[in-house]
Amino acid sequence: MKALAAANDLQRRESCWSHCFVKNLIDFGFKGSIYPINPSADEIRGIKAYKSILECPGPVDVVHMVIPAKFVPQAVEDCGRKGVKHIIINSGGFGETGAEGAAIEKDFLERAGRYGIRILGPNCQGVINTDPGIRAYCNFTFTKPDPGFISIVALSGGVAEVVHQAFAQMGVGTRIYASNGNAVDVTIPEIMRYLGEDEGTRVIVTYVEGLRDPANFMQAAAAVAAKKPILAMKAGRTREGAKAAASHTGGLAKEDIATDLIFKKAGVLSFRDEGHLIQAAAAFGSQPIPKGNRVGIITNTGGPAVIATDVLVGAGCTLPPLSDKTRALLKEKLYPEASIGNPVDVLATGTAQHYRVCMDAMMEDESFDCVFVNFVTPFFVDNESIAREIVAVNQQRRKPIVCNLMTDKQQWSEVVRILREGGVPCFPLPGEAARAMAALVQYHAIRSREASPIQLFADVKPEKAKKLIAEARATGRTQLDAAEVYGVLDAYKIPVAKWRLAASPAEAAQAAAKIGFPVVLKADAASVVHKSDTGGVALNLASASAVKAAAAEMKRAIAAPDLRFFVQKFLPTGLELIMGAKAEEGLGHAVVFGLGGIYVEVMQDVVFNLTPVSAAEAREMLDAIQAAPLLSGVRGKKGVNRDRLVEILQRLSQLLTDLPQIQEMDLNPVMAFADKAFVVDARISLKESA
Ligand code: ADP
Ligand code: MG
Repeated sequence: MKALAAANDLQRRESCWSHCFVKNLIDFGFKGSIYPINPSADEIRGIKAYKSILECPGPVDVVHMVIPAKFVPQAVEDCGRKGVKHIIINSGGFGETGAEGAAIEKDFLERAGRYGIRILGPNCQGVINTDPGIRAYCNFTFTKPDPGFISIVALSGGVAEVVHQAFAQMGVGTRIYASNGNAVDVTIPEIMRYLGEDEGTRVIVTYVEGLRDPANFMQAAAAVAAKKPILAMKAGRTREGAKAAASHTGGLAKEDIATDLIFKKAGVLSFRDEGHLIQAAAAFGSQPIPKGNRVGIITNTGGPAVIATDVLVGAGCTLPPLSDKTRALLKEKLYPEASIGNPVDVLATGTAQHYRVCMDAMMEDESFDCVFVNFVTPFFVDNESIAREIVAVNQQRRKPIVCNLMTDKQQWSEVVRILREGGVPCFPLPGEAARAMAALVQYHAIRSREASPIQLFADVKPEKAKKLIAEARATGRTQLDAAEVYGVLDAYKIPVAKWRLAASPAEAAQAAAKIGFPVVLKADAASVVHKSDTGGVALNLASASAVKAAAAEMKRAIAAPDLRFFVQKFLPTGLELIMGAKAEEGLGHAVVFGLGGIYVEVMQDVVFNLTPVSAAEAREMLDAIQAAPLLSGVRGKKGVNRDRLVEILQRLSQLLTDLPQIQEMDLNPVMAFADKAFVVDARISLKESA
């Protein structure tokens, strides 16, 4: 960036805006030329001002524009004539204010389009770039960051600034900060891709409230996250007033889960707490990515190491024992009273040399992927020397280090300074440091995820399923009837228990005989949602007379005019699972898998994933539920055929991809056995409009 022009509305806010922007640029050490543009000032902060951009002597790379909305279209036009290609518009008063503002927005966008100008904003905070060769501060907030490796991108300037300020307070530098407000042109995914390419950015931090173009975000995030970590936080989770969904799947997804699923699928690390996100980012900004989850702990005090251990193990890290070689070395070099295990306790009297020996040994020891340092600053040791040794090892960048620094920052300011300048991520609490380390490990796990292509089965009959759906629509229904539901499942070869429909108790008995006893009788009527709740399920009927009697009783209990009888093969007791789906705007479907049956809402042991689901993702879903051990078999009980379930999930995913009209789908239960699995209850509803 060679030159930057700052236009402003002098009449209204001379004292603040114009001077402020120019001052910000100068104070931040901007490396290019600055041309203030102002209709009625000759100079601003000692720099010659121009009446119009067209009068600027040199070429202008970026215009930072802060003028009332109504002047923006003409100013953009002038920029176009000058050959400017990039404009940051801080001003508000556009689409966010209503129709009039939206019209102005449309106007300047058209003009920008004609000249090939890219716009960041409007109604945004702008950009900061700390690159020593640029030093641009095109922003109106107060944080003046030191150069670092963390880049921040967010629509919301407020949150971006909070995050930015938190880094500054931790003494952690940042690289590029972009907050694009109304985002009428340059989007978050586009900025993310740019940061993905930017060599100076090691980690990207983003904050979202909702995603405008979820599919685009997911694509960009997936591409970037494969190269460098993206740490994200989603706010606005609770879905107030979400109407109670008729199916289990809808009811189980109480929160706005779509964004989380996007994060997961794209490999973005998702945070629920901005503090945790900031702490993790600080670690990513300075540390290499570990090659595994094995942590070695060095401490000079007991308790905090215990807290750290709990957090690390809880987050999936392991604390392996020291190798024999490390153990022997430390026995020789540390105090005889030191505890030589993992954690290694060098004792409060432990010296800089003790720390150094331990750290070197753990860097060398193949048993460890990361090193966690607990450092309390006792007055009787040379804490500055300890800090220097930690820094020296840190600068080798062999394995990631985080440090839980327990100190009085005023009294030990030199220690703090040494560690800070040495790029050691320090946290005052052991849990904080441990969570930051766990995030590094988690990113490694994401990166090592098994790549698995989406499998498409050739034996499916999409046309048959589409026809059934079209027929239901033609009758004005959004709820498929039993024949349609099972027809759709059949078209995708999703195995179902044998079934027949009957209009009367007598027909039901005949149907049962054809299927073969024992059977199950179920009420089939539009008004009956959860059949067991209303006496609509009669299990294990072994004879024609039992079927007839159950049907007569059902007819009495459920006085629905459209009542029919769904007769189904009774299956021996298996493991009851749920599979299902729910449409997600702009994304396809969220697929659910978990422990099923009539208590599914009570257990809430389910996981979600977005379509399309690969075999590896399906396996991951199976492993992710609490009850996962039941699938493999426990206490002498046989497990179920996992491969079969993985296949059914993939077939379900294919079905959903082919049939975007489906709103919700519920296969509950899917009865799973050691060899096979069958759907015994299914519901499908369609979107209101095709
Ligand atoms: P709903 O969910 O509408 O109450 P289901 O058809 O799921 O009705 O039946 C309720 C429960 O009955 C199931 O969770 C399962 O335990 C049992 N059940 C249903 N169908 C069968 C079947 N064909 N064989 C064995 N048990 C069944
Ligand atoms: Mg059911």
